[in-house]
Parts: sequence; structure tokens; C-alpha cells
Amino acid sequence: MADGIQPQPGIMDIALYKGGESHLDGVSNVLKLSSNENPLGPSDAAREAIARASHDLHRYPPTDHTKLRTAIAEVWGVDAERVFCGVGSGDVLKLLAEAYAGPGDEVVFTEHGFSMYPIYAHACGATPVVVAENERVVDVDAILAACTDKTKLVFIANPANPTGTMIGSAEVARLAAGLPAQALLVLDGAYAEFVDGFDAGKALVEARQNVFMSRTFSKIYGLGGMRVGWGYGPQTIIDVLNRIRGPFNLSTVALAAAEAAVRDTAHTEKCRVENAKWRDWLANALAELGVPSDTSTANFILARFADEAEATACDNHLRDNGIIVRRVAGYGLPHCLRITIGDESACRRVAHAIAQFKGAK
Ligand code: PMP
Repeated sequence: MADGIQPQPGIMDIALYKGGESHLDGVSNVLKLSSNENPLGPSDAAREAIARASHDLHRYPPTDHTKLRTAIAEVWGVDAERVFCGVGSGDVLKLLAEAYAGPGDEVVFTEHGFSMYPIYAHACGATPVVVAENERVVDVDAILAACTDKTKLVFIANPANPTGTMIGSAEVARLAAGLPAQALLVLDGAYAEFVDGFDAGKALVEARQNVFMSRTFSKIYGLGGMRVGWGYGPQTIIDVLNRIRGPFNLSTVALAAAEAAVRDTAHTEKCRVENAKWRDWLANALAELGVPSDTSTANFILARFADEAEATACDNHLRDNGIIVRRVAGYGLPHCLRITIGDESACRRVAHAIAQFKGAK
């Protein structure tokens, strides 16, 4: 054992990520509603692009991501020069932490914020600062009060995971305007496309120098397995990220899939509409069973039970029936279960199982 070789302080405090559910691979009739994946999957255009791209695998992929950045720019009305592409949006967020925070610096996020934010902070040796929310909604005043002259990054997901709640553009703008000069506001838009007409912070990125927006192909585009995310921010920040990323970070297949997916706006819209329909249906069905949830703007709902014991018992009942949802005790929500919005049959199956659980009590 090389006892003298030690990782950075804080790294051994990080719990290993649990949630891939790979032990369920090949098990039949399991309904996995635990990772906010798109039940409709990627568009046919993306599947075809994947098949075509797989003919060229002896070559390294392009390092500048120009075709994908151009497609993103055309579809989302952003400047291609200020788009950065990473291995999932998690990679983009981690690179931001590596580039802008280190020992002695503070990284701010909220109490029910995405579970990876503290990990990104620890991994770069910075100090995580956890801020209270207001009934599971990001509280701008509390964040502003928590910022100091050591704050380097403020992460908020909007819509948020696992609560599904979001704050309006005016609140986000107030947060950006109130931050100390050395702090960057990172708007994590992993679920942004599920919100009709939402710009996810694009206008704010263009108006200010202290705002960065991240997005992903893992959710509405149905490409979680491809690992593609992107960010939009000030030119100076994009330049920094490009210096520290791997030169061939995105595979040929991933680049082709993402480009085709972003251009297939009809498929994206179909996924948004289907998700909204079944999300509202499931939220109502569970509310009628005495299981409320906050109004969700994303592709999951956060079902609230009486207490941790009831949430645990319901989770066990669902597992016994082959349904996997997400426990969110690690997010400070031990009495809740996060349920991904599946297709119609998935929503009916999970609602039926929860009705059985409630009826049997
Ligand atoms: N941000 C949020 C809020 C998320 O929920 C996730 C995935 N669960 C990510 C970022 C990272 O997703 P990916 O790396 O697949 O883009």
C-alpha cells in the first residue's frame, strides 16, 4: 500500500455516485423511472446519424466541434463561438469548478441542489456552501446573503433537480446582478427544454459577463448514453474551458448524434408535449391518492409522503413490483421519491402501484 500517496483533502468525504441501476440490465419487465431519461428515446434522425458515424471510427473525431456548435447556434439562436461542448453537462460544470475554484474558495448551491455540485466543489479543493431554500424553491435572497469575497461559483439548476421547481427570469437576473464581482453564476439548464419558450438564461449570458448556462443532450434529446452537454458563456470563459478539456473529448458518434438530435426540432417538441401531458396526469393521479408534489416544470415529479418511513415503504413496494424510482434522502428530502415521467403505460403502472400501496395501508 502506498500510504504516503494521498488525494486532495475532501475527496474521501465524497460518497460514490449511486443511481446507474446497471444491476438491472437484462432483467425483464423492470420499469426504470429513476434517472430522468426520455421514454421516447432519441429521434430517428439521431439514430441514423449514429449508424452512419460508426463507419468512420478509425479516425479521431474533430477537436473543434464546429458542426455541433453551429447546429446548436442555429437552433437556439446563440453565438457558435461562445458554445462549449463537453462529455455531458456534468463535465462542463466540473471543468468550470476546476478552472475557477480551488482551496480557500467557496462554491455556493442550495440545500436540495443537484447532488454533483458539492462533489465538483470538493474535487477541486474548494469549500461547498449550502444555502437554505424556501419550501423547495431556490431563494435568491438567501443565496445573495451567503456570498462572500471568497465565492467563486454559484450553481443553480433551473428547473431544479430533484424538486422540479423553477424561478422566473426576473429572479435569476436579480441574482446575477447582486453577486460579488468575482463570482460566476452557473445556470444549469439540464431540464430547460421541457419548459415551453424558456431561454434558460441565454439573454442574461448575452447581457452580462458573470453568467454561464449549461445544457444537456441526456434529457429531452434522449441521448444519456452518448454523453454530450454544452455551455454558453462569455468568450473568456469559453476560451479557458477549451484550454483544459480533452482535445478529443467527444466521440465521432456522439457528435453526429447530438447534431442530428438538436436539428430535429419536431421530435424535441413532441417529447416536450408528451412529457407535460403525462407529468400533469401523474401529479394529479398521485395527489388524489394523498401524495402531493410541487408543480414540476421538468420530466419528473417529487412525490411527498407523510414521513421517511412511508417513503421507504412505498419505495419497497414499487421495487417489489419491478418499478425503480429515486430515493432523494441524500438531497435532504428523506420523505420524498423522485419519479421520472415515462410514457403513458409507465405513468399508469406507477400510479396503479402507488394506489395499491396506499390502499393496503
Ligand atoms: N444537472 C442536473 C440538474 C442534472 O439533473 C443532471 C443529470 N442528472 C446533470 C446536470 C448532468 O447530466 P449530464 O452529465 O448527463 O448532462
